[in-house]
Amino acid sequence: MRGSFGDHRTVALADVVAREDFRRVWRARNDEIQGCRDCPYRYACTGCRALLADPEAEDSKPLKCGYDPYTDSWTDWRERPGAAATMARYQARLHLPIVRS
Ligand code: SF4
Repeated sequence: MRGSFGDHRTVALADVVAREDFRRVWRARNDEIQGCRDCPYRYACTGCRALLADPEAEDSKPLKCGYDPYTDSWTDWRERPGAAATMARYQARLHLPIVRS
């Protein structure tokens, strides 16, 4: 997921949870997300927001959702135009910190 709230060795979890930018996602509602807002499953779907179909958007339909509410059809999300390129962008910027003790 994008964003960082600090190093767990130096930042208290309570301080992270108190941050408004951390809590913002708690209020995320499918009713407000393009694509999802028109989906009949929006009140049951917990959708993963780690990988977004539109990585530049603040909120977006999940990259890996293969449902199209406008055609009522399910497809392999990887076949959606642009999905492979979006995944490649995510993979290119993936960097996990190496923690040495
Ligand atoms: S099924 Fe897909 S389109 Fe529907 S609410 Fe979930 S993530 Fe959004």
